[in-house]
Amino acid sequence: MAKILANDGIDPVGKALLERAGFTVDTQNIPQDQLASRLNEYDAITVRSATKVRKELIDACPNLKLIGRGGVGMDNIDVDYAKSKGLAVVNTPASSSLSVAELVFAHLFTGVRFLQDANRKMPVEGAEKFNDLKKAYTKGIELRGKTIGILGFGRIGREVAKIALGLGMEVLAYDLYEFNPEVELSFMGASKVKLYVKVATKDELLKNSDFISVHTPAVDKPEIGATEFALLKDGAFIVNASRGGVIDENALLAALNSGKIAFAGLDVFENEPKPLEALLKHPKISLTPHIGASTNEAQERIGTELANLIIDFFKK
Ligand code: NAD
Repeated sequence: MAKILANDGIDPVGKALLERAGFTVDTQNIPQDQLASRLNEYDAITVRSATKVRKELIDACPNLKLIGRGGVGMDNIDVDYAKSKGLAVVNTPASSSLSVAELVFAHLFTGVRFLQDANRKMPVEGAEKFNDLKKAYTKGIELRGKTIGILGFGRIGREVAKIALGLGMEVLAYDLYEFNPEVELSFMGASKVKLYVKVATKDELLKNSDFISVHTPAVDKPEIGATEFALLKDGAFIVNASRGGVIDENALLAALNSGKIAFAGLDVFENEPKPLEALLKHPKISLTPHIGASTNEAQERIGTELANLIIDFFKK
């Protein structure tokens, strides 16, 4: 039976599904520079975002039949080349959307109540410093009643919209392609509610949003650079949990430092795993190390979906 290398790990539920179906699953993490000489003994490799499966690796491993990506973005895989060589390439696009959307709100709630700064500065010295710090955070704001602009209205963008609508926010959405503005919210134990986002142009969204969340794919040229920052409302907040490079980081720093925008939440960076130090130390930036999909629930869904895709492929 086929042998799978889960090089960036796989949820135990997915591993168990594969093993029950008769596959051998190896979860050792082979370093990138050793993969070319060792991957050929496997029939399939699964990766998350860390391991790269480039043309040279594909050429070095003619026994490989399938590349599986646990998650959405395939920018670490030479997909077209793999397919041209007859390999199957599969991913699990929807499994993590809700977790990424919730992380967006973790950043937004952090920003409106200064948690990124308060966490770093809470004094151990006692009452006097505590009270000084308290005075620094008196201008918090609520999300309810504010406008969020969602740039890229795909799977994650729609989940962000549902949470925003549930919180009583107004939602502006922009996508390259026409989309259905209807969003269905289902609350536990209650019936479903249909709500609508407002379809906007990119400029309308940038000019009229208090908060902006970016959910477009990886690109060569940033979606948000100096020109776009200039259009934003003064004091706007921005979150990027899509891909590094979608927001121009130098333009972002300039907009924060000039006071044009009030806050940024970043889960992804142009240089991963070593983001710019100016971002890491900035008091107005909330940071997470690319953990959008890192919840127990998302990982279980990803592992299960990936296992089923692999089982279906090798059954054929
Ligand atoms: P998706 O394909 O469902 O949605 C992306 C949407 O963006 C599509 O509707 C597309 O039409 C639109 N789009 C593309 N280019 C655009 C542009 N220039 N302007 C406006 N809209 C544009 O993808 P998704 O599953 O919602 O994922 C969105 C992003 O989140 C991707 O970059 C993905 O890699 C990233 N992601 C990040 C994490 C994380 O851990 N932070 C996890 C999963 C996905």
